[in-house]
Amino acid sequence: MISIDKVGMNYQLDGEQVKVLSDLSLTIEQGESLAIVGPSGSGKTTLLLLLAALESPSVGSIAIKGQDLSALSQDQLADLRRDNMGIIFQSFHLIPSLDALSNVALPMEIAGRNNARSIATAMIKSVGLEHRMKHYPLQLSGGEQQRVAIARALAHSPSLLLADEPTGNLDASTGSRISDLLFDLHREMNTTLVLVTHDEQLAQRCQRVVRMDGGRLVEEHAHHGE
Ligand code: ADP
Ligand code: MG
Repeated sequence: MISIDKVGMNYQLDGEQVKVLSDLSLTIEQGESLAIVGPSGSGKTTLLLLLAALESPSVGSIAIKGQDLSALSQDQLADLRRDNMGIIFQSFHLIPSLDALSNVALPMEIAGRNNARSIATAMIKSVGLEHRMKHYPLQLSGGEQQRVAIARALAHSPSLLLADEPTGNLDASTGSRISDLLFDLHREMNTTLVLVTHDEQLAQRCQRVVRMDGGRLVEEHAHHGE
């Protein structure tokens, strides 16, 4: 499904190179659940951005479903994301001028799904926000915005779900409800889950946990997971 081969990532900042990832190799199978853990600044978000093809590596290569991302045009990458990926960012990237329901429905409407709004309504309910459908992002709490972003990412049943701290803004009981949703999707649709998390319980539900430190993978554990 995903093969990351000797990837390095540097950002240019004020003419200096900031080394963020080094010599990182990892293979993720279709249908696998993987947690990425590690201290703040260790490169976890950068790795997810590379997997989402929103950044490209400075060295090394990433292939998804056998396709080398560097060989794809921006349009092809956008199609790959739209058709295969659900992405949950730390900053939720909701559209401020659309209410919660429309934020969830929009990507499906763009993709030409004619039942977009009814699927969106069902997803909003499954994240427990049926009483917030008509609210705009600024009228929602951080945790509610996070749940809208999660509903949007899950609505089209992606084959790859990339999530950056998906329970980071949620209380324990909402967090476990949202985790259940992620793992339901994983089980029912054979979705590949790649989660960045500080939540030890969430990490333990994954079949594999990898730890990053200083831009490198330093440790790996297999679990029974879900
Ligand atoms: P994590 O998600 O593990 O906290 P990040 O991937 O966000 O870590 O960041 C890793 C390191 O890369 C940090 O030290 C951060 O300051 C740096 N970094 C991230 N994005 C940029 C950028 N666009 N330009 C320069 N440095 C960056
Ligand atoms: Mg991060």
